[in-house]
Amino acid sequence: MKAIITGTLKRILYIGGFCALTKQIRILFYHSVDNSGSPLSTSIETFEKQMSYLKKKGYRTISLSHYINNIYQKHTQHKKLVLITFDDGFKSTYLHAFPVLKKYGFLATVFLTTDYINGLAGWIKRDINLIEDRIFNSSISKKELQEITKASDFPLMTWEEIKEMDDYGMEFGSHTSSHIWLGKTTTEEILEDIKRSKAIIEEKLNKPADFFSYPYSDYKPETKEIVKDLGFRAACGGDPRADRSANDLFGLKRTGPFPAENFFEFKFIFSAAFDWYIGLVVRLKGM
Ligand SMILES: [Zn+2]
Repeated sequence: MKAIITGTLKRILYIGGFCALTKQIRILFYHSVDNSGSPLSTSIETFEKQMSYLKKKGYRTISLSHYINNIYQKHTQHKKLVLITFDDGFKSTYLHAFPVLKKYGFLATVFLTTDYINGLAGWIKRDINLIEDRIFNSSISKKELQEITKASDFPLMTWEEIKEMDDYGMEFGSHTSSHIWLGKTTTEEILEDIKRSKAIIEEKLNKPADFFSYPYSDYKPETKEIVKDLGFRAACGGDPRADRSANDLFGLKRTGPFPAENFFEFKFIFSAAFDWYIGLVVRLKGM
């Protein structure tokens, strides 16, 4: 019943929302693009369908550096811009997302967990109890938890693959070295970990690593200052609403993480009503 009510509400808002599109940018947030069925994965077919939809609707992608530069230079944003991001640096980003992005002439920004490049996503198994407690409040089923744990075996990209994407025009940022849980780590450890990650990306790609994304979207307010002091120009936070002219450069809003296998859910995100809906959900949860 609850699903029927929220589904109907979304459809009403979706229709109404097109009348109220404002200057904003939707920053999409993916992890892995593969057909494993993992809660971290968007299927290859769904990703293709989503990108095809954006192309047909006239969306153009913009890189994070372009977006930030436009804000600094006070350029007006094109109405139909979208920013695509991937966290972690899974090999599937190279194998499955990159060809689709190229096909549609799209760019994306990928945040790398640098200690795990060339290896497997071992931090997932390491953090599984924290993931259960902090993200799902222990309300997740054992089966779903097992599915997430399996993603520990997902390979990450190699530096050669990253360089190939970089040469094409994809952008790379830091997602820390070891995927540390920033909200539970000392300032000294955070500094060392992020500094190391930034340095290796800059050494391998021979260009500044200007952008950062917070693992688990969980961090103390002072972490923003640390990220800023380390020389990053902006960082992606966890608010799922559209980003409006980057009011907070170290807490850019991002919609996701995907999977959103339900195609209507994806289309709904591109209606201005999506943000009203999220605001409503947040308010109702607080009641
Ligand atoms: Zn991550």
